[in-house]
Amino acid sequence: MKYYDKLIFELSRTGRTGYSLGQNEWGASTDALPAVLKRETDPELPEVFEVDVARHYTNLSQMNFGVDTGFYPLGSCTMKYNPKINEEIASIKGFQGLHPLQPASTVQGALRIYHDMNRALAALSGMAQFTFNPCAGAHGELAGLMIMRQYHLLRGDLNRTKVIVPDSAHGTNPASAAVCGLDVVVVKSNEHGLVDVEALKPLLADDIAGIMLTNPNTLGLFEREIEEIAALVHGCGGLLYYDGANLNPLLGVARPGDMGFDILHINIHKTFSTPHGGGGPGAGPVGVCEKLVPYLPVPKVVKAADGSFKIFGKPGVPPACQAKNTAGCEESAGQVSAYLGNFLVILRGYVYILSLGKQHVKWVGKYATLAANYIKESLKDFYKLPVPSICKHEFVFDGLIDDGSKVAADGTVEREGATTLDVAKRLLDFGFHAPTIYFPLLFHQAIMIEPTETESKETLDAFIAVMKEIACEAAEDPALLKSAPRNTPISRPDETMAARQPILKFADET
Ligand SMILES: *Cc1c(COP(=O)(O)O)cnc(C)c1O
Repeated sequence: MKYYDKLIFELSRTGRTGYSLGQNEWGASTDALPAVLKRETDPELPEVFEVDVARHYTNLSQMNFGVDTGFYPLGSCTMKYNPKINEEIASIKGFQGLHPLQPASTVQGALRIYHDMNRALAALSGMAQFTFNPCAGAHGELAGLMIMRQYHLLRGDLNRTKVIVPDSAHGTNPASAAVCGLDVVVVKSNEHGLVDVEALKPLLADDIAGIMLTNPNTLGLFEREIEEIAALVHGCGGLLYYDGANLNPLLGVARPGDMGFDILHINIHKTFSTPHGGGGPGAGPVGVCEKLVPYLPVPKVVKAADGSFKIFGKPGVPPACQAKNTAGCEESAGQVSAYLGNFLVILRGYVYILSLGKQHVKWVGKYATLAANYIKESLKDFYKLPVPSICKHEFVFDGLIDDGSKVAADGTVEREGATTLDVAKRLLDFGFHAPTIYFPLLFHQAIMIEPTETESKETLDAFIAVMKEIACEAAEDPALLKSAPRNTPISRPDETMAARQPILKFADET
């Protein structure tokens, strides 16, 4: 145990002070406080020097893993590096102190950011217009499906109650469809890990509201038949929804709008970088093609003829009471959040886009793709690659090729092999965060690796070397992996309890 692993209460010594006004020549001292402002008894705080406090909190902050301390090959969630300029701009007082009910005339700068970000996202995705009101990806999915439903309802097409979702989809897709009151129909993947078009055809009927896809899909594979899929779905009267939580592979290279998608959401906190550990904060703006613009949720920001910006649809007022404020918004699918979404996250995304600029944003998808393929090819002799083909931003292994297990001739297990969980835990000992594991559900020992576009070749090489070393350790002595991690502040917590009932404060068990 290191000295500073001690609780700060254990370092406490009666009478020690961290900082004191003392008694200075102007008479400033706590003695000068009026009695009514003073406590009757001292609070039970540790009595330590200032330096002890600084070390205590700095050491606590180092007990966790962060993208600022090490490489994070965390697939799908794009825990990518968050440029510090985003944080600097987002901490400007004028942005932080905004109130959602301020008159539009006092927040013209912020409204202009909404307006300009709308144009930037439209240009990058091939959509006509966005709403910024949803506060997360799943929230965007719900808003997008409400728009889909509204489109069919207002055309009097009341029979369309089903949404098609591939078996490789992110779990939020079927969940959002269900929350929106739509029934989920699963379309299976073919042997190449792509949507099975022959299996899709018989599902397409006049009860289909649309299909939810992500392209490249969760295996990081590009749906090459997307144009045929779009024609088939449109042909039966349905719409195409694009799950753009992670736009990394396409950014600056291809646009969902050009592939035939009608609605999409983008996770600003993933693709356009915002620290979002522990479930927030997020922004899941939804973009739609031209014909769906009238159904976008309110409130929204519009540019008036005189160049000023206005809020259309009164923020914070339920749709039913909006009569006076929604002229031109009568067809809106409704309201999905109280105000205009998570402004500071949208601002960070805006800064990310501006700081890359048009000329550099086009490299994001290419570098993300190159990095993923480099790791995949370097490790495929050590880890099972169930779908061997060129991937986009991410790929999935299905466990170790040699997990070190030993089985006797009669079938009895003499030695348990190392699992994907063991590999992930062992990575922590080498200073790397674990990738996403056991997702997608298509494979039993899934390891999903997404390096993103920001890592140097040296970092990728170091990761590859460690992954190879772990594979060799597993083949020789799987028990070594099963007792990992050993170099972290805690080893293996109960996975479920740690997520559902985290212990966030010290509990004296004596
Ligand atoms: C993260 C993710 C989502 C959900 O986004 P949240 O902001 O966590 O709600 C949906 N789809 C995919 C593919 C994702 O990676």
